[in-house]
Amino acid sequence: MRYVSTRGRAPVLPFEEAMLTGLARDGGLYLPETVPRMTADEIAALAGLSYEDAAFRVMRPFVGESFGDDEFRRIIGRAYAGFRHAARAPLVQLGPNHFLLELFHGPTLAFKDFAMQLIGQLFQVALERAGRRVTIVGATSGDTGSAAIEAFRGLPNVDVFILYPHGRVSDIQRRQMTTPEDANVHALALDGDFDDCQARLKDMFNDFAFRDEVGLAGVNSINWARVLAQVVYYFTSATSLGAPHRAVDFTVPTGNFGDIFAGSIARAMGLPVGRLVVATNQNDILHRCLATGRYDTDGVKPSISPSMDIQVSSNFERALFEAYGRDGAAVTQLMDELKAHGGFAVSQGALQALREVYASGRVSEDETRATIRDALAASGELLCPHSAVGVRVAEAHLSDRPMVTLATAHPAKFPDAVEQAAGIRPALPPHMEGIMTRPERVTRVPNDLAALEALVRERRRA
Ligand SMILES: *Cc1c(COP(=O)(O)O)cnc(C)c1O
Repeated sequence: MRYVSTRGRAPVLPFEEAMLTGLARDGGLYLPETVPRMTADEIAALAGLSYEDAAFRVMRPFVGESFGDDEFRRIIGRAYAGFRHAARAPLVQLGPNHFLLELFHGPTLAFKDFAMQLIGQLFQVALERAGRRVTIVGATSGDTGSAAIEAFRGLPNVDVFILYPHGRVSDIQRRQMTTPEDANVHALALDGDFDDCQARLKDMFNDFAFRDEVGLAGVNSINWARVLAQVVYYFTSATSLGAPHRAVDFTVPTGNFGDIFAGSIARAMGLPVGRLVVATNQNDILHRCLATGRYDTDGVKPSISPSMDIQVSSNFERALFEAYGRDGAAVTQLMDELKAHGGFAVSQGALQALREVYASGRVSEDETRATIRDALAASGELLCPHSAVGVRVAEAHLSDRPMVTLATAHPAKFPDAVEQAAGIRPALPPHMEGIMTRPERVTRVPNDLAALEALVRERRRA
């Protein structure tokens, strides 16, 4: 199994190298050269398996020679051992034909644990074997950073630096990043918004001298291994609801497009997915793009679902690559236009291809709050604001197929917004008690590449 860049000008890499690198050297994102297909019988056989066994069968073909079978099984076992639900990704029913996939039972209470816990284990095994060290730098709107820190803290071959927008993450999100005591963890509060964090991260990756000097590795949602880990729960939930014998729709609260893109991989592998519905908050660039064909950035508006407050959705590049028939030159041109003019037009053919897979909807702040209130009354489910955005959009897309809405975070991660909407303050699970009183460790940093690089050089362990 080999991986190619969406811009078509980076070296083709095996799984392990694509994972350790993150972003391709031509600025593109890695994708498998061909997506392996599963037969209907193989898909049917997933029903009833443990999450770990299903994960092994779904992901195995993508990993190629990089990990042995037994090694990969052990890695998967360790990755999900810290989850606090035996099913890992349980389904609950919200209403007729509408189901919620609870992806928040991992250690940091957001779906990002599914991917991050796995790549923490994959990195450790791969680096130890090669006698290598890496410096992980990540940008976060809140949940990626805490999930990355939780996955990599204390690992001997890794330093982890996380950039988050100062003052724009919830108290709990911030404390999850600033309270771990491990010496290899560095939380950096950047003066800017999430797009600034993401832009400086990209700048570091494009500074090849720096990149090679510190052994830079990326674990943002552009990392292919993260997308891959997220493919699994599309299979486990759909087979629970009758796939491959019937098709299932999914609605996904979307920001950087990683989670929903994983659904398109499941579909390409042969899982009968009817529609993948993109749910956005008021930062609706993806919804506008699917509606009009114009992808135009226009500033981030802070919302009560902050993990979706973005204007540049990095994994969308992968969907564009597929929609343009895997034409790396065409994707390069679009990304150059985005950089120069803040937007681009998707061709008619590509827009049609996108619409065959994706539908979309946008939800206002008031609608999000109303949905939290209504869902509690209708089904007793207390939704986080991101999941509420998903549920609201899903309700507008219900059909005769089962609809699965991805619940991307635990309500207790966003207690103020949930309390304001529903009048109930969600309690933190017992394992997180104490987080509000532990001392914090964080460095405030300017939105400046040179200053950031100097800090990483100085702080990383030799
Ligand atoms: C990261 C995140 C999202 C957005 O996921 P993408 O893969 O970036 O589209 C949605 N909800 C929550 C709670 C998140 O942490």
